[in-house]
Amino acid sequence: IRGIFIGKGAFRRNLVTSQKKHVTPLWTYSVNSYYICLSIFSIMKNNSMKKLFLVMTLLQVFTICNAEKKEFKSPDGRLLVVVSDENGSPSYSVNYNGILFLKPSPLGLRTNIGDFSHNMYFAGDVKTSAIDETYQLRNIKQSKVHYTATEAVCSFMQQGKRIFDVVFRISNKDVAFKYKIFSQGETHSCVVQEEVTGFVLPEGTTTFLCPQSKPMGGFARTSPSYETPYTVDDALGKNGWGEGYTFPCLFKNGNKGWVLISETGVNGSYCGSRLLGKTDGLYTIGFPQTGECNGNGTVAPGVALPGETPWRTITVGETLAPIVETTVPFDVVSPLYDASKEYVYGGGSWSWIIGMDGSTVYDEQIRYIDFSAAMKFQSVLIDALWDTQIGRDKIAKLAQYAASKGVALYLWYNSNGYWNDAPQSPRGFMDNAIARRKEMKWMQSIGIRGIKVDFFGGDKQHTMQLYEDILADANEYGLLVVFHGCTLPRGWEKMYPNFASAEAVLASENLHFSQGSCDNEAFNACLHPFIRNTVGSMDFGGSALNKYYNANNAPRGSRRVTSDVFALATAVLFQSPVQHFALAPNNLTDAPSWAIDFMKQVPTTWDEVRYIDGYPGKYIILARRHADKWYIAGVNAQKETLNVKVHLPMISAGESVQIYTDNLQLEGSTKQVKMNKKQEVQLSIPCNGGVLIVK
Ligand code: CA
Repeated sequence: IRGIFIGKGAFRRNLVTSQKKHVTPLWTYSVNSYYICLSIFSIMKNNSMKKLFLVMTLLQVFTICNAEKKEFKSPDGRLLVVVSDENGSPSYSVNYNGILFLKPSPLGLRTNIGDFSHNMYFAGDVKTSAIDETYQLRNIKQSKVHYTATEAVCSFMQQGKRIFDVVFRISNKDVAFKYKIFSQGETHSCVVQEEVTGFVLPEGTTTFLCPQSKPMGGFARTSPSYETPYTVDDALGKNGWGEGYTFPCLFKNGNKGWVLISETGVNGSYCGSRLLGKTDGLYTIGFPQTGECNGNGTVAPGVALPGETPWRTITVGETLAPIVETTVPFDVVSPLYDASKEYVYGGGSWSWIIGMDGSTVYDEQIRYIDFSAAMKFQSVLIDALWDTQIGRDKIAKLAQYAASKGVALYLWYNSNGYWNDAPQSPRGFMDNAIARRKEMKWMQSIGIRGIKVDFFGGDKQHTMQLYEDILADANEYGLLVVFHGCTLPRGWEKMYPNFASAEAVLASENLHFSQGSCDNEAFNACLHPFIRNTVGSMDFGGSALNKYYNANNAPRGSRRVTSDVFALATAVLFQSPVQHFALAPNNLTDAPSWAIDFMKQVPTTWDEVRYIDGYPGKYIILARRHADKWYIAGVNAQKETLNVKVHLPMISAGESVQIYTDNLQLEGSTKQVKMNKKQEVQLSIPCNGGVLIVK
């Protein structure tokens, strides 16, 4: 093909159709417009016209009163979704094992081509089908997934027209649903002004939530950057700091079980959403805040018709296992392009977390490359200011030196742009396709492995497009992408094969910045495996073995209050296929050799995860498998020492395991033990301590 010609046909067509007004036949107005209808009826002169009008109106009323309930079950029959069109308002509810987890909850959209939240009714029979798929993803919690689900496509009508389908996918532990919106006549685009999509939690439910911050606040007006502290076991009926909550959102259904609500499949064709807290247990989908991105860009997403919204996901369990182990963010999405090469994940080091801006200099990066090589790590991340403090020519030299040591480099970039004031350079490359592609071509030419792009501007649709554009371009040049100061990744590990990880958490930098964060480190570590990290890779950048967050490891600044075993355990607890650990070259000599040896071999990719025990904010024990090796990791945030007996069916009786434990003074040690006949181990984890069992 020599070229493309865009627009002529469509333009002509628009000239003709734009003069037509969107006219709805009078008789189709339904109950809500009943009084208007009655008054029109009373002024009608013609009797036969009156009769016809009456019949039509009654038909309409009949359709709406004749509400239906349709039930759909998971393959194992335990998870039940009931969809209804009662009172013309579509809704759904969720039951597990006969217990109500979501009360009838609203469905519907308000758009600029119609209000599709009322006067809606089922189009007739629902198409159901069985989904049975297997897929492989090296970069999530489970490398091979067998996904089975019931798919139910519920079509909804308004005034005789098919408006949207709600596509449900019900697996044995998750419900996912999305809207498919149809063209209306010659209207092939719409703006979704509001979703009434909601989630009504039963009375007695408590919440484990992370408030959405207001826009244009915090460091250099970079919020929201999904770095706010959680509240746990809190009451329903609140709305965070007035702006709702960041996904994913965890709820405890009294003593009956748990519910995790999130979304997936968000790309440049929609905005990212949050959860707004209302009254009576209701939470609704909220669009981005007007002020995000310095007020630029729209809050309401535009959709080409027919078009789809992202998936809303609900994971349900009597225990926390289905939530910790869920793969729903990946089950229902598809890759948007092919990987341009086989990407290499792995551990790495990073001078900035201990050395800050001053460490982004040539000699220090040489020291970290040598350190990564000594640790058998894959990479070194060179953080902000490398363009001025090292320079492009010397970056090329560093990349060459690193390659000679079997290490690859990641380079940091500022995302902006015009959406905040973050001054760190290099800036002005990632927000512009021409500059970005030129920069990426250069990176490819010197063998850079990936980029870390920081300081994004929120969740508006055009920001989602920027994430997508960066990812798609980076794939062209064979680069992995880590996002920081960014939104939650929503299925991106599968959608974008070169997406590596994202921050969207109060990450390790805060441990450097404040003692308060250090004091709360264990509490937060006991939340992430249940909330943030359940739905997407989390670039935490932790596992520091320095006692103090400074380059000399001298007694000043933030002091780490957690144990060395805790540090190792979080390398297993926090899942991300690329991890730049907060280790420093001095740890080769000042940290225990068993700790360094563990960090030299801890994997960053996993084949399987199994929840063992825990409670959000109190303690967590889980197991991850890499090939045939199991890593069981636990940490405790409670003041009292946790004494718990765990059953480990993945380790055979009589098998030798390496166990890492802390004493009450948080001094770690390791030894070999043999698994007993019952395959049980008695664990004792002090406050701020950890445990590891490796087979
Ligand atoms: Ca950050």
